[in-house]
Amino acid sequence: GLVLEIAAHSEIADARLRNVERILPVQALPVHTLSLIRFASNYYQYPIGQAAFVALPAALRRVSYSGPKPQWQYVLTTAGKAVPVNEFPARATVKRRLLAALRLAPMCRADLMAVSASAAKLVESWAQAGWVEKRPETLPQGKAGFTTNAQHELTDEQRAAVDAISAGFGSFSPWLLDGITGSGKTEIYFRLIEQAAGRGAQTLLMVPEINLTPQLEERFRGRFPDLRLVSLHSNLAEGERCANWLAASTGRAQVVIGTRLSIFTPLPQLGLIIIDEEQDGSFKQQVGLRYSARDLAIFYARQRQVPAVLGSATPSLETYHNARSRRFGHLHLSRRPAANRASIRLVDIRGMGKVQSLSDPVLQAIGACHARGEQSLVFLNRRGFAPVIVCAACGWNAGCSRCSARLVWHLRDAVLRCHYCGHEERMPRACPSCGNQDLKGLGQGTQRLEQLLGERFPGARVLRIDRDSTRRKLAWHTMQDDIRQERVDILVGTQMLAKGHDFPKLTLVVVVNPDGALYAADFRAGEKLFQQLMQVAGRAGRADLAGEVLVQTQFPEHPLYRALVHQDYRSFAEELLDERRVAVFPPFVYQALLRAESQSESTLMDFLGFAASQGALGHDAVTLYDPVPATIAKIAGHHRGQLLAQSASRAELQRFLSEWRPLLVESKSRRVRWSLDVDPIDL
Ligand code: ADP
Ligand code: ZN
Ligand code: ZN
Repeated sequence: GLVLEIAAHSEIADARLRNVERILPVQALPVHTLSLIRFASNYYQYPIGQAAFVALPAALRRVSYSGPKPQWQYVLTTAGKAVPVNEFPARATVKRRLLAALRLAPMCRADLMAVSASAAKLVESWAQAGWVEKRPETLPQGKAGFTTNAQHELTDEQRAAVDAISAGFGSFSPWLLDGITGSGKTEIYFRLIEQAAGRGAQTLLMVPEINLTPQLEERFRGRFPDLRLVSLHSNLAEGERCANWLAASTGRAQVVIGTRLSIFTPLPQLGLIIIDEEQDGSFKQQVGLRYSARDLAIFYARQRQVPAVLGSATPSLETYHNARSRRFGHLHLSRRPAANRASIRLVDIRGMGKVQSLSDPVLQAIGACHARGEQSLVFLNRRGFAPVIVCAACGWNAGCSRCSARLVWHLRDAVLRCHYCGHEERMPRACPSCGNQDLKGLGQGTQRLEQLLGERFPGARVLRIDRDSTRRKLAWHTMQDDIRQERVDILVGTQMLAKGHDFPKLTLVVVVNPDGALYAADFRAGEKLFQQLMQVAGRAGRADLAGEVLVQTQFPEHPLYRALVHQDYRSFAEELLDERRVAVFPPFVYQALLRAESQSESTLMDFLGFAASQGALGHDAVTLYDPVPATIAKIAGHHRGQLLAQSASRAELQRFLSEWRPLLVESKSRRVRWSLDVDPIDL
């Protein structure tokens, strides 16, 4: 349980009230965190108790929790001071660095982490040896100074951005920092963090799940070796997450790098919030409390009176619209200070016949790239060998028995797999419907491309990177190493490769037939495609090597591709915004989606029918649409349907939802599972 407030009276019957038996030694959540949780609970229509638990690390929620472990400070003893640095061989870098750091000043846990992940263990052994004394830590004290390693002279645009944002320290100001990959956004974050830390303020830096890599942390630690930085994400071991959370919430950590859940971390000295790649879908939680960490960050920055910086090469239309209508300041970075912009070219495959495959210009470019000793990336947003298996004789295709989805052929494991429910079956020898033995794979998967490239370039080392090939722990880590060490020539990959990773020798990116998204049902598909293509394009070309991007398409005249070739997101975004205004889609209206599923189709329809029959409850500004089946109408034997509520007024929609939800709770049949998604990003 969680005590949110103490009241003299309750409307709940005495018999249903419980006594507090014992209070766990968890430090109280500060008022500002509680009001963020309250806001999230109201806005996203989710019970306050469950919302609050999202904010607390699991270790603190245990009945067995016995309070925070004492935080130690490590100080060199006289014996320790007498140890010469060359006690250790030069290759024992961690030992040498740790000893050197301890000679300068006492160290706490976060300081140790800054030296190395293994420093904590090492210092314990030195304590055993009598070199180091452990004292209870007396922090937090704002460190007066910290080291800042080599930095660039800022470009004029960077300087203007840093000045504009830092002028607003101590008050709420939201900013869109709009610049392509490599335009120096991270450099701006560094400068702002430095200034914030100099003022004794904490920075919360939120990044997409896939970008929170050891490389990013290394880059930060390299720049600010003794700034106390902790990371927060769901892959941390429970104990570590808890320790990092405590370091943040006691003010010991000066910088918190985290994924979406870090928005709920109490930060007593918060001075700045940065959200990198703000358009990224991973900022929206898709289960339980369906919050957008980006949107909450704006609310929270206002509440705490701090600047919020949203960085992106391809801002979400919501953010772009906010910047254009001057609710957010808009800062531009138009150049890449350390690299050339990659050029983007379309390869028209109309009339080439072989729509499924790689075209000749693409194969030539890959060959030439390989001959130059550089790396290429063939990007395909789809897993498996071939998406669907069809019988050319009768038209039968392999579908999942539990879902309304087709099975995907996975060559390596020789199975058909459902990407929705995980169901697997053997590849049939013949068509189960007509007995035809010549079953064909339609479409293109990463495995098939890998095979094709291997055949075409026998001398090249081809590496496939997708969720299948990286499933084993550490596999992805090893692969990144192989790429950096140039043990790979051609990469074949899905969106795992689109983001965040810098490979210096990668100069060619080929995007294979992304056309499907141009005509997808989701009104955000075009926006997402452009964002994704710009992101992959950002992988090509580094400091001294020019990059090239080839997009193989059947629709080279499409406005999206024409804007892409000019890398002109802005005019494309303007066009999309006009379309959305006319079609009355977000960001010009606000939406909430009721999703429901049931094993019984009629129960599902009854529930959605009831929800629709309530109408908009007298809220004229709210439109309630008819119930419809979900895009995947059935998953793992559960029928799925949905109902959209929409309004031009956010407040009206909120008022409607808070009246609607209790009715749904009451009507609820036990055989229906449902949820409300406010500001859904997938319909
Ligand atoms: P982004 O975050 O926008 O992708 P980065 O900040 O990572 O861009 O910068 C891209 C590259 O350019 C990095 O290698 C960085 O060191 C370099 N860089 C950034 N700013 C400057 C500058 N003012 N002068 C020279 N190089 C810079
Ligand atoms: Zn399935
Ligand atoms: Zn058949």
